[in-house]
Amino acid sequence: MTTPQPTKRPTDAAYLDGDPDVPSELLSLPWIDPHNHAHTLSWNDRERYALAGCRAMLMIASGAHWTPYRPVAADDVRYLWDDAINRRAAIERNHFYEAKLGIGAPTRIRIEDPDALFDAMEAYVQLDEVAAVGETGITPSQHVSAWPLDEQRAAVGRQFEIAADADLPVVLHTPNKSIGPDRQYRDGMAVPGYEKNVALGADPVIDADTPALEAVRIDVEIAREVGLDEERIVASHADGNNLEFLLEETGCYASFTLGHSWMTGVTPADIADAIETYGPERIMVDTDCANILRSDPFSLKRAILELYRLGVDVEDIRRVVWKNPRSVLGLGDA
Ligand SMILES: [Zn+2]
Repeated sequence: MTTPQPTKRPTDAAYLDGDPDVPSELLSLPWIDPHNHAHTLSWNDRERYALAGCRAMLMIASGAHWTPYRPVAADDVRYLWDDAINRRAAIERNHFYEAKLGIGAPTRIRIEDPDALFDAMEAYVQLDEVAAVGETGITPSQHVSAWPLDEQRAAVGRQFEIAADADLPVVLHTPNKSIGPDRQYRDGMAVPGYEKNVALGADPVIDADTPALEAVRIDVEIAREVGLDEERIVASHADGNNLEFLLEETGCYASFTLGHSWMTGVTPADIADAIETYGPERIMVDTDCANILRSDPFSLKRAILELYRLGVDVEDIRRVVWKNPRSVLGLGDA
């Protein structure tokens, strides 16, 4: 019981049953964002990561969203890598967190003559500032121009090989099952919050009941073929569609993307459920914030508090937002 209250009439405070256990250490718990595109955000958004206690991040320089052409030329993607390399050190200086790069080629947009890009990539992955290959991974359908599955397999396989040879982890892009609400927007409105004309989607190249899951199965198959350790794969955009496969049938890490929950449908409650079901050992959280979509740099910090409210222990939270990305990506020691 609390001490009698001097309030005129009873208030909620008169009925408090002891102090709740609120661990203030969560306010300063260090965290790492293992997948974002912060170099495409505004300066103010990057500052938000610092204000929220981010210690390190992996900025994924592969995002053919940012090229104006379809399909893209190898040099267009290389320009994106160079742009990220050019600005990375300034971002660290400005915001105090460690910012490393993921270098890779996505398959959501078909790349012409990708081998020239991958030949160049072998030198890029030797740079100290490159901490991972990716994001990449088989995609069921492309923007504007379809990329046949056998060619995608070759492109993903080559990148997995480059990662294995350079002893780097891979950030895998796993496709989410749906975008936005069930109800369709008016013709011509596209998806608010996503600066892409989704009406220009090419016909799918994967014929399966759940193409998004089939894409991940193929990725793991390729990893096994080329000898990339599954423990070195961070499968981003984990969701109810792929989680069981990732954590029960592979050695991959599953990273939940929270920066645009409105699009992926994934919430901290899903992460709490996953930790309860599978343990925290192979779970991570990322923001995937990028300027092409409505996304929230505070989402990971908010999740740290929300996971505790949802019953997750402080040590398990520390494991998923700090220890796991730290050990797999080698970040957080700078
Ligand atoms: Zn991304």
